[in-house]
Amino acid sequence: MTASEEKFTRQTLLDVQTLTPNLFTLRTTRDAGFRFRAGQFARLGVTKADGSTVWRAYSMVSAPHDEHLEFFSIVVPEGEFTSELSRLKEGDTLMVDKTAFGFLTLDRFVDGRDLWLLATGTGLAPFLSILQDLEVWQRFERIILVYSVRQAAELAYQPLIDDLKSRDYLEGVADKLLYIPVVTREEVAGALHGRITTLIENGELERAAGLDLTPEHSRVMLCGNPQMIEDTRAVLKARDMNLSLTRRPGQVAVENYW
Ligand SMILES: Cc1cc2nc3c(=O)[nH]c(=O)nc-3n(C[C@H](O)[C@H](O)[C@H](O)COP(=O)(O)OP(=O)(O)OC[C@H]3O[C@@H](n4cnc5c(N)ncnc54)[C@H](O)[C@@H]3O)c2cc1C
Repeated sequence: MTASEEKFTRQTLLDVQTLTPNLFTLRTTRDAGFRFRAGQFARLGVTKADGSTVWRAYSMVSAPHDEHLEFFSIVVPEGEFTSELSRLKEGDTLMVDKTAFGFLTLDRFVDGRDLWLLATGTGLAPFLSILQDLEVWQRFERIILVYSVRQAAELAYQPLIDDLKSRDYLEGVADKLLYIPVVTREEVAGALHGRITTLIENGELERAAGLDLTPEHSRVMLCGNPQMIEDTRAVLKARDMNLSLTRRPGQVAVENYW
């Protein structure tokens, strides 16, 4: 099979950063033909010691206009894919499926005033792509990024989030963003403490944002831990906020990571 007939391209690792023993980021070259919408994911492939290839879904952190691709990864102990991925170094090869997938994109919503982006752990990735793209800043009046981790040391990409405010192309609109970190297993100044569902139910999240979650104005994206997503969907449903489908536009869009 020739390279043009293959369903994937081979990209080169430009940079690998270890954030904690269980979290790292990687930056790769990008095939000129690889197109995606902010919020989508790629399928990445690595070769195991026995020569077989293992594939997993990974959300892009980088924006559709970036020349490179960036990914944010967990290391699952004994994980089939991440054990291999976390061994890769600058200059190594990563396979990237030619097609991007996924519906955690802004076209899920036909309207809305406030966009709530609720992430646990590496579920932050697609929201960073969305925030680095212009569309979200044009469409919404307020953007609330809620990023939940267990320990403060796991709060990744803080410089990127801070830096959004000083990007030229966001001049005049960057104040639309409110960032609310949540740390569940320790009390940290400047972060909320508790599960996202609890913080919605007891009103703390809305108080911190200075905004109400309402079917009329709020659109909510959820990404990461499937239990958080299921529980949060139930809490939102009780407030008349439902999954947005093509045939029935709603208020909620989700991406489960496992
Ligand atoms: C649409 C989609 C997008 C994804 N995007 C990302 C991403 O951007 N970054 C990323 O790290 N992973 C992402 N994942 C998860 C990823 O595909 C793999 O599951 C992960 O790389 C672990 O692979 P593994 O073979 O090592 O372990 P697996 O055998 O795949 O997973 C073993 C177990 O590890 C846990 N687990 C898996 N992924 C995570 C995670 N991200 N955070 C915490 N616990 C986890 C779960 O309990 C899972 O059952 C995504 C998954 C989907 C479906």
